[in-house]
Amino acid sequence: MKLHRVYFTKKYATGSLAQRYDTLQKYSSQIYSAVMDKYDATLKKNNWQLGGEANEFIPLHTLEKIIKKIFPEKLSFKIKQKKDKVFIRPCAAETINYYINSHFIMTKINLPATNRKLNIDQVPILMHEITHLLDFALNPIIPKIDMKLCKKRMYADMQNWYYELLYTDREIPIEQIENEIKKILRYLSIKDKLLVLKYFKLYLNSEKKAYEATKIYCDKLRTEHCRNLTYDDTYEKKCRIDEKIKLINKIRYEIISEGRKWYKQVICRLRYLNHHTDCA
Ligand SMILES: [Zn+2]
Repeated sequence: MKLHRVYFTKKYATGSLAQRYDTLQKYSSQIYSAVMDKYDATLKKNNWQLGGEANEFIPLHTLEKIIKKIFPEKLSFKIKQKKDKVFIRPCAAETINYYINSHFIMTKINLPATNRKLNIDQVPILMHEITHLLDFALNPIIPKIDMKLCKKRMYADMQNWYYELLYTDREIPIEQIENEIKKILRYLSIKDKLLVLKYFKLYLNSEKKAYEATKIYCDKLRTEHCRNLTYDDTYEKKCRIDEKIKLINKIRYEIISEGRKWYKQVICRLRYLNHHTDCA
């Protein structure tokens, strides 16, 4: 089976996290400009008449073509119309990586389209999802950790926990989330505990960047294209992403410290035993 790539080669996916975020924003901005150029070209063709399906909507296959043209390397992704039943949770859109036998197959972006066309006011949502796609492409650690979890048959469960406890607007007290996460990790090895926590952290971080994009492109559409849009941050705030990233860091730190303590005790014990064996 020929495997597709989810990430860019080292030529692009390299540098510090800040440098990669700059690259991500550079490509996002190019994609946004290309999509809006297409929108403006259609409007111009129709004598700048606002409204109507032909002017206000962009077909998903056109979007896919525009976006694929901008990527420096071939990435395997598809843009689809949102179908409620395939959604893990109720939301406007989502970007999901598909794995078969622990191998990446493709990224699927599901958008709130009508007749496979996206309303121009939904472009900030598109940019949110594109940010996830670029984040996966520029940070190969994300698909690699997914694949490791798939191999250990933990991916589906951890993904469910992620949506149940972390990427959710449910008002769960932070102490309760902490207890639940510790319960999930209880029987795992230190290595697997850290793997799961890294997975949670990377996806929460990706959400942070994606919401930043939603806001930026909402403002751009309003100021540069006179769309009547304001970014509603209610859902983002209710998710308390920063607070949850801090919690994950705290649990990670505790596990590493415990691991070191345990390692020290083992070394001390071995030294003691060696010493006594030598004396005997
Ligand atoms: Zn998102």
